[in-house]
Amino acid sequence: MSEAPQAPKLAASAPAAVPGPKKKKKSAVVALVHPEGCTGCEVCIEFCPVDCLYKVPGPEHPEEHGFLSLNSIVVVDEEICIGCKLCAKYCPWETIDMVSRVEELSAAA
Ligand code: SF4
Ligand code: SF4
Repeated sequence: MSEAPQAPKLAASAPAAVPGPKKKKKSAVVALVHPEGCTGCEVCIEFCPVDCLYKVPGPEHPEEHGFLSLNSIVVVDEEICIGCKLCAKYCPWETIDMVSRVEELSAAA
């Protein structure tokens, strides 16, 4: 009677090192919305490829502060912004500037 063939024994070896996720380098610049010029038109939100622009309530009495907005303004999440400049390019009110990430974050601190 013949025996069933056995599976070959695998040589014991250390598991291959799996590289971890690469840390993405942050952009040198980020978008800065000047709230007093923002109308809340949402054009920038439409163009942002990473969805880091958010509408927030504007000031209660915008005219007293020189704001254009009646209802809401837009703010940027600098942690997510990749500095692509699309929002600044297409804002019809030209109220977005691209600024140095270092300067923006230190100003916010
Ligand atoms: S496109 Fe300009 S004006 Fe319109 S919501 Fe964005 S920042 Fe405000
Ligand atoms: S620069 Fe690009 S990623 Fe940053 S807020 Fe504007 S559209 Fe979004």
